[in-house]
Amino acid sequence: MSSNKQSRGACEFCNKSMTRGGLTKHFSSCSQYKEKVEAANQKRGKEETIYHLQINDAWQKDFWLHLEMKGSAKLIDLDDYLRAIWLECCGHLSQFSIGDWIQEEEIPMKTPVAKVFQLGMDLLHTYDFGTSSETRVKVITQRKGKMLTKNPIYLMARNEIPKATCIDCENDASWLCLECLHEYEQPGFLCDDHRNKHPHDNYGEPIRLVNSPRMGMCAYDGPAEPPY
Ligand SMILES: [Zn+2]
Ligand SMILES: [Zn+2]
Ligand SMILES: [Zn+2]
Ligand SMILES: [Zn+2]
Repeated sequence: MSSNKQSRGACEFCNKSMTRGGLTKHFSSCSQYKEKVEAANQKRGKEETIYHLQINDAWQKDFWLHLEMKGSAKLIDLDDYLRAIWLECCGHLSQFSIGDWIQEEEIPMKTPVAKVFQLGMDLLHTYDFGTSSETRVKVITQRKGKMLTKNPIYLMARNEIPKATCIDCENDASWLCLECLHEYEQPGFLCDDHRNKHPHDNYGEPIRLVNSPRMGMCAYDGPAEPPY
């Protein structure tokens, strides 16, 4: 599912399509974003530190998110969010740790993120200690003010679903055969037509491709939708 071209995604505010790195710099100059922030800051309520996070799958660089998160929210809010948008299959254990490796310091899930986050810091999120999904969380910037919604996390951008080509023709694929993937070391991507003609069923029917780096791992089958 990877190609040499960097995956792109649209800014939630102005709809411009950019790479992950382009978006990292974009928000500070996006006038639509700034307008929303100013409007939010006019509302009642306490100001707090709000963090801009860049999140990516540790191994599949096509999968990334840009999130805003409020400092009084807890790590478990981010864990819940990542499970909903990318990871949840069978309720596996997960943890956050500082640095590159899960053996390093684990941070309790109930910790408010303002106690953990520092500019430029990298956190590792591990979901499932068997077939593990590893996600990197980088703290890009922070602002003092109010969230754009009542939720602890706001989705500012995510990658578009990577294009996949059917293994039996040149058409775009929207299905994945797990038997191809696990038994025959093939990508296993199938178009609608070839999905119906595909002979493999030892891993069940081909599953629909969704916008998640956990595709093909454990029992994951989507839906890869944000929780709010
Ligand atoms: Zn924008
Ligand atoms: Zn699972
Ligand atoms: Zn096909
Ligand atoms: Zn197959």
